Amino acid sequence: MKNNLVKEIAKDRVEKLLKFAEERALENTEASKKLSKRYVQLARKISMHYKVSIPKELKNRICKKCNNFLIPGINCSVRLASSKRFLVYKCECGAEKHIFYK
Ligand SMILES: [Zn+2]
Repeated sequence: MKNNLVKEIAKDRVEKLLKFAEERALENTEASKKLSKRYVQLARKISMHYKVSIPKELKNRICKKCNNFLIPGINCSVRLASSKRFLVYKCECGAEKHIFYK
């Protein structure tokens, strides 16, 4: 019966953590980068533990390899794929993410 409430809280926490992660990533200092990754890590843990999904628009911003919250121009580069069907986000760790759009 309380399961839904727990999930609501978990989802809220995940979104807040990712918001913090974005704010820290924008600061772009060594210390804030570490914190940002930590927030992303936590958010992913919570989402897995409570089986709540991370909203797609936020999921697209997370590097699966190093937990970076991707900010174009700060810690990732963006280019259009040659097929023009998706964007390629390249994280500073070298991992690439394909973002499909309509
Ligand atoms: Zn990365």
